[in-house]
Amino acid sequence: MIIGIIGSGAMGAGIAQVVATAGHTVHLLDQNAEALQRASLSIEASLRKLAEKGKLPLATAEAAITRLHPTSDIQQFTDCELVLEAVVEDLAVKQQLFQQLESIVTADCVLATNTSSLSVTSIAAACQRPERFIGIHFFNPAPLMQLVEVIPAIQTREELATEVRDLVESWGKLPVLAKDTPGFIVNRVARPYYGEAIRILEEGIADIATIDWALTELGGFRMGPFTLMDFIGHDVNYRVTESVFTAFFYDPRYKPSFTQKRLFEAGYYGRKVGHGFYNYA
Ligand code: NAD
Repeated sequence: MIIGIIGSGAMGAGIAQVVATAGHTVHLLDQNAEALQRASLSIEASLRKLAEKGKLPLATAEAAITRLHPTSDIQQFTDCELVLEAVVEDLAVKQQLFQQLESIVTADCVLATNTSSLSVTSIAAACQRPERFIGIHFFNPAPLMQLVEVIPAIQTREELATEVRDLVESWGKLPVLAKDTPGFIVNRVARPYYGEAIRILEEGIADIATIDWALTELGGFRMGPFTLMDFIGHDVNYRVTESVFTAFFYDPRYKPSFTQKRLFEAGYYGRKVGHGFYNYA
């Protein structure tokens, strides 16, 4: 199967690695040449490291690398059977991208979004053939995280959800079907989790390191909420919080915090830029 991935940031690069390893030819596109170059190098390095550690046969890693085709030309997507986007979390950008894609891909090419919080139905509504549209939501880092949420829009043809679920399973992932509601399953639960951690900080109950320590050492979480928000990136995480809050008709349970908004405004996006709740320099 030939798969197109648009957006080669944290998620697009990880997803490209997953599907190339699973045996698919992958066209990976980004509008930013530097991001594309960075993604290709990081996928290659990651696959070779897995081979060195004995977690993946060297031949599989090398074959996956040869199946990966970075490109800045969307016309390369004409032969794709599935195109999944992982570009910025912005409804208008995603809608416009799929409108452009529909003039390039074949009529039966499946179109998918990795959105964390936007309505899959509203992205599908911008398409001429919304019945071939679906949400395939990976978690970060995609090569390591097993869970994938599969989210049919209300326009999606009925069998597509099962077909996509089987496909995702063939990639060695654990798919779960979810209804198209804001944040789906995991991000909906995660909003109050991050929000409450920030409120504990704002109310002076405990500092960042203590809250993270309590949740990892005592709570059994792999990362504390502040480490995790820094890892996800405040550009992504803040936008998702704002989007879930708006989509739930301003339900105060999902209200964003000024603390995170200020980090977002300052460009202190977390680990990827060296500043966030923690300093990484
Ligand atoms: P990112 O900022 O790391 O990467 C986005 C990439 O998309 C950038 O390289 C950018 O140059 C590119 N891009 C933006 N607009 C484009 C366009 N019109 N055409 C081509 N390329 C374009 O973001 P990310 O963290 O990878 O998130 C991408 C998507 O995945 C978002 O919708 C986000 O909500 C979702 N998501 C993120 C996470 C996470 O933990 N980061 C987890 C699950 C889902």
